[in-house]
Amino acid sequence: MATVLPSPPKVGMVSLGCPKNLVDSERILTKLRADGYAMSPDYAGADVVLVNTCGFLDSAKEESLEAIGEAIAENGRVIVTGCMGKEAETIRARFPNVLAVTGAHEYEQVVGAVHEAAPMPPSAFLNLVPDRDLKLTPRHYSYLKISEGCNHRCAFCIIPSLRGDLVSRRPDAILREAEKLVAAGTRELLVISQDTSAYGLDLRHASWPLKGGGEVRAHMTDLSRELGKLGAWVRLHYVYPYPHVDQVIPLMAEGLILPYLDIPFQHAAPAVLKRMKRPANDAKVLERLRNWRSIAPDITIRSTFVVGFPGETEADFQYLLDWLDEAQLDRVGAFRFEPVEGAAANALPDQVPEALKEERYARIMEKTAAISAAKLQAKIGRTLDVLIDAADGDGATGRSKADAPEIDGEVHLRDAAHLAQGDIVRVLIEDADEHDLFGVAV
Ligand code: SF4
Repeated sequence: MATVLPSPPKVGMVSLGCPKNLVDSERILTKLRADGYAMSPDYAGADVVLVNTCGFLDSAKEESLEAIGEAIAENGRVIVTGCMGKEAETIRARFPNVLAVTGAHEYEQVVGAVHEAAPMPPSAFLNLVPDRDLKLTPRHYSYLKISEGCNHRCAFCIIPSLRGDLVSRRPDAILREAEKLVAAGTRELLVISQDTSAYGLDLRHASWPLKGGGEVRAHMTDLSRELGKLGAWVRLHYVYPYPHVDQVIPLMAEGLILPYLDIPFQHAAPAVLKRMKRPANDAKVLERLRNWRSIAPDITIRSTFVVGFPGETEADFQYLLDWLDEAQLDRVGAFRFEPVEGAAANALPDQVPEALKEERYARIMEKTAAISAAKLQAKIGRTLDVLIDAADGDGATGRSKADAPEIDGEVHLRDAAHLAQGDIVRVLIEDADEHDLFGVAV
């Protein structure tokens, strides 16, 4: 007689915030799948809904609270996890019915809360371990988290108080995860952390033996080299320009990792950087950028900047604009300074009025859009490698080595019916606008 299996409980997931949070969501779901749970794509079918929150900015907190409210209204059985877990009282005051509140990276607690809220029916058949991680990002690219937390104390940031000091993962474990991802179809690995260049500092840059012989040091350069051997694109995010970053540029020139660095400079004026308490606040950055470009001419530098930080004068802001003229960064995101509850910057004197922040924001956006447009125009006529993200009917959309998913531009392809997601093709660039390129596969 056939065994009738009880159906496993279903878990819904709402993941808010940055790619780092997405990685946490993936880990939680992987564990739940391994425990036998099924996933529900909607509120109605879920026995319990997990909301993975972001609490970095006050606006993100509000978005998180709205998401919790929506999940309670639509389903009613809600567990909250993520950065806002630190504010359990605020959440419980507004939503007394939440089943549990756990903090960021408290994987065991959140998984335990799911087991309590929606117990598994006893069955040996349901406890199947999936052969690969359950991923929320498309299969052809994956975020690879190499460390958690941060040793710095930037005045506008509360991440260290939310996530603690730097804790690096072992390099052999990172490489094992990366190998599995590549074997499962990942074409691009996006290395993330709070401070990628500090990787391994807490492990005193010790070495670990590798499966196939040799060893790997817990250091950004060594890890990048090993990742580069796996055959996927490797893109480094959240890199601070410490002197040793110079060592990864030759790996880019060799083609081992992508010629791309995401460096959150946040400002250029020395007085503002000092008040921000930024790490690697090096006056020689422009010289180093020139040097990097001489070694890896195709290098793309992406960055973010904060305008309207307390005490930022017109002269400071003009310094930043002039610096951008010199630095010629390829991709720039800008934010108006926003006080985050608990951040030291809130108490600084000379807060900048909102109208002035807006004005400066408009000016920096205008400047960086013009630089980006000129840089993209210069790519017309070149042939670039493009990783296809989506193929739809006759057209397709992808990204060149200069474009990270979700934050940079795209390459739009015509006559692309033969292409599929995950393909890497050579594309002749025919046109460009401020952010995107247009072309055809050759
Ligand atoms: S480097 Fe600064 S901004 Fe980045 S996580 Fe650390 S404290 Fe926050």
